[in-house]
Amino acid sequence: MSCVFCLINEGKIPSKKIYEDDKVIAILDISQATYGHTLVIPKEHYDDIFSMPLDLYLHLQEVVHKLAKEITTKLNASSCNILNNNGELAGQTVKHFHVHILPRYENDDLKITFTDHGNKVDLDELKNKLA
Ligand code: AMP
Ligand code: ZN
Repeated sequence: MSCVFCLINEGKIPSKKIYEDDKVIAILDISQATYGHTLVIPKEHYDDIFSMPLDLYLHLQEVVHKLAKEITTKLNASSCNILNNNGELAGQTVKHFHVHILPRYENDDLKITFTDHGNKVDLDELKNKLA
């Protein structure tokens, strides 16, 4: 499987690796949407959360938890977003599961907007569908 993150894992494409263990790597995102933008990536290829085994997912999130704290502290960021896109409509462009760590700064230009559609949704009906 020669997706870009598999090629990075195999050392066939250069990357700036800031963490590695037997199951996971973390590299600096090439786009640096905010300063310190990091991707946490499983070494084994899984397209998305839907195909990720739970034990690997939990391990990767443990690494996200550790790195989010470390990166935010080391870069003197005031806040941090953790983001994971699954599927094209969700904005996933690389089909190899990954979690973004995005340190946040006063006046950075990253926009994540949740529009309020609460008045158009029957929450009881929705709850019945999901619970
Ligand atoms: P997503 O849109 O959630 O699939 O995110 C894919 C991310 O991978 C984007 O933020 C890209 O900037 C990043 N990316 C793509 N190619 C590389 C690469 N060769 N090295 C580092 N980051 C990359
Ligand atoms: Zn891959």
